[in-house]
This record gives sequence, structure tokens and C-alpha cells, in this order.
Amino acid sequence: MHLILQRYFGHTAFNPYQQEIIQDILDGRDVLAVLATGGGKSLCYQVPALMGVGVTLVISPLIALMKDQVDDLQARGIGAEALNSSGSYATTRRIRSELGEGLIQILYVSPEKAVSDDFLTLIASTPVTLIAVDEAHCISMWGHQFRPEYRSLAVLKERFGQVPMVALTATATPDVRDDIARQLNLADPSVYVGSFNRENLRYAVVPKEEDAYERLRVYMQGRKTETGIVYTATREGAETLAANLRADGVPALPYHAGMTAAARAETQDRFISGKVPVVCATSAFGMGIDKPDVRFVVHVDMPKTLEAYYQESGRAGRDGTTSDCILFYHDDDAKRLRSFIDRDLPSEFQREVARSKLQSMVDYCTATGCRRTVLLEYFGERFDAPCGGCDVCAPDRIPALDREVSLAGKARPRPGRRKGGAVRSASG
Ligand code: ADP
Ligand code: ZN
Repeated sequence: MHLILQRYFGHTAFNPYQQEIIQDILDGRDVLAVLATGGGKSLCYQVPALMGVGVTLVISPLIALMKDQVDDLQARGIGAEALNSSGSYATTRRIRSELGEGLIQILYVSPEKAVSDDFLTLIASTPVTLIAVDEAHCISMWGHQFRPEYRSLAVLKERFGQVPMVALTATATPDVRDDIARQLNLADPSVYVGSFNRENLRYAVVPKEEDAYERLRVYMQGRKTETGIVYTATREGAETLAANLRADGVPALPYHAGMTAAARAETQDRFISGKVPVVCATSAFGMGIDKPDVRFVVHVDMPKTLEAYYQESGRAGRDGTTSDCILFYHDDDAKRLRSFIDRDLPSEFQREVARSKLQSMVDYCTATGCRRTVLLEYFGERFDAPCGGCDVCAPDRIPALDREVSLAGKARPRPGRRKGGAVRSASG
């Protein structure tokens, strides 16, 4: 396996748990792998896929991500293809014939496709040697990204009883972990849980008062050449904030699901290529964005769950360099989100789950102890404070936005602009 690691991927050593996971798969065991973003989950199924004959099926929820992965693997000389509902008849026919000739080693499939009759027929005479379920938390209603189509995947275990299955996820609380194993029918799986601690990330929560926009502006103006993401709760918030920042000399572009696909792609390209340093975005931004040098992720509105917060803030500092995760908090945000839960969720069960997740998010924001400890405990990981990298443990080393404002002098009110409009817009 080291040979494959080196020859196909150019790496000299395995990351934590990769080798153990691969060995278990080769031994025919089911595996549940919970590794933080950037932990190298893909290799856990790609290496075994290249070690034998037969096809590895990879269930993946995002068509765009699938395409990136397939392009990358093909560029390495690996037989990879993707099948999803957007694929044409011609694509299916080509894949059928390539499967017949044994040219495909890794086949990415969307969950709805994977359990469809035509796919199961297509694959019936193919030797499947491994099934990998990526983003496996999508199967759990306890998770923050439940996808009903994942529920049908248990069918695969019935169909391919002897084939090992590996479920992979970056965010799973202990409840979600158990649920994944149960829902997928994993047979006595080996469970690997990597550390969720991101040592190079600094965490801070800032009170969201009237001067929130000014604090943010001063922070950003001090980092003009650095790359960052500012998350807002609403599309309007993203637009307004980007416009305000641009007016204040910070090159920022908005990104949200209300923009055309072309406009979104352009913003994303300009961000990834470094042409524009800051994106003001809703949570629609980020899936599959693997930009290593994001130096700060600021949330001007509180997310609904710590899973979402961990995932979004985790887009900072993937290159290992010190980076900031800053969250603006106000009680009103919690109240607003609570009222959305009561208004929008159809069952009491869903409302309870959502309320309890929201409460954990609020607990993080209002913690009087180490933020990192609260965050990691939520994922079932023990951490001994002080961490040296949060606003509670190390107030001097953390960019306290209030201090930066006072250092910069009293913020001047700006005539003609809604003061703090974008930052507060979500609550109004
Ligand atoms: P995840 O899906 O867990 O977020 P990826 O599989 O996308 O992580 O891998 C993240 C990055 O780490 C990729 O750039 C990948 O090439 C790199 N990587 C994975 N395994 C190793 C390794 N053993 N040594 C060095 N780099 C690795
Ligand atoms: Zn701390």
C-alpha cells in the first residue's frame, strides 16, 4: 500500500488512521471512519481500490465534487468514472462497456442512482470489491445535513453482503456515529475517530452590538491582502455586507443560492484563484472549496448547529497556518432561530433535535470557559483547557475585535449608509 500511496498520490507516509482503515478494508471488515476535514478520507478507499481487481463504488452526495474527484483521479492515470442523474444515456452506455472491459477501478455514484433498479442491473455482473459511503452523516436525522435518499443505502448491504463497506464522515457526534452504523447495517465495524482539534485555528466570539459592522470593517481593513470568508444568515445580508465592505476599500464579493449559477461560479473561481480575497456568503458557499490559505472565517450571524459552525469555520487554515474563526453573537439570533424551528419543522421530534443542537451552539457562544473545549466536547472528544488559542484562554493572542477598534480610534459613523446594516440585517 505504501507503493500505491507514493506512485499514484505522491505521498510518502500515511496520515493518522489511514493505514489502519485500509488494512481493515483489505481484511474484509466494515469500517466507520470519522476524520476531520483535511484528514485524508478519500485515500482510505482510493488506495484499496487500486490494490486489487474489481470495482470500488463510492456513494457521494454532490455531483460537482464527484466531477472534481474523477478528473483528479483520471489525471493520475486511474480508471475513474461518475454516474448520476445528470448523466446522459451515452455516458451510461460508455460506463457499461468500460465496466465490462474491466477499465473502471473507482465508480462514483449518487445515492439515488446507487439504489435504482437500472444501476443495480448495470452493476450485477461486475465484481464489486468495496463500497465507500462518503459524507455518511447525511444518513442520520440527528446530523445536520440529513438527506432522505441516503436512507435507502442499506439496500446495498443486502445486495452486496460479502463486500466490505466503509462509511466516512467529517462531522459526527457520538449519536450520529451510532446511527450511521445502524442505518447502513454495518457488520461489527471497526470505528476510527480522529481528533477534531485544529491546532492552528484561533476561536473568538464577539458581542454583536450596534458597532458590529465597524469592528468587522477595522478587522478586515487590517488584513487587506488576506483571504477570508464572512458567513451571513441571509442572501440580503451577504449582498449588503459585500457592498459595504467594497465601499470601505475591502474587495469583497457576495455568494448565495439566489445568484445565477454563472455568477456563483465566477465568484468561486475568483476567490479560489486569489483574484478576490473576501467572499460574503450564505452557507451555500464552501462545499468542496479546498482553498488552503483562508486566513479567517467570520460569522456575523450564528449558525444553527455546532456541526455547521465547525464545518464552515474549518475552511480556515487548511494549510496549517494560524487562522481566525470569529463569531458575532447576540441573543436575538438565538431567539430568531428558535422561532424558525417552531415555525418550519413539521414534527416534534425534528423540533427537539434542532432545539438541542441550537442550545449547544448558544452554549459555545456564551461559554465562560475554553471555546475549544466546548467545541470538541460536542464531538465527544475530551480536551484539557487552557488551549492557548481562544479568546477565553488567551485573550491577548486573539484578535479581539473590540480592542482593534479602540486601537484604531473611535469608529466614525458613516452618513448615508445603514450602520451595521448587513451585520444586523438577518434579525430584521
Ligand atoms: P478529507 O476528505 O478528509 O477532507 P481529502 O481526502 O480531501 O480529505 O484530503 C485532504 C488533503 O490531504 C488532500 O490534498 C490530500 O491529497 C492530502 N492527503 C491525504 N492523505 C495524505 C497523506 N497520507 N500524506 C499527505 N497528504 C495527504
Ligand atoms: Zn481555549
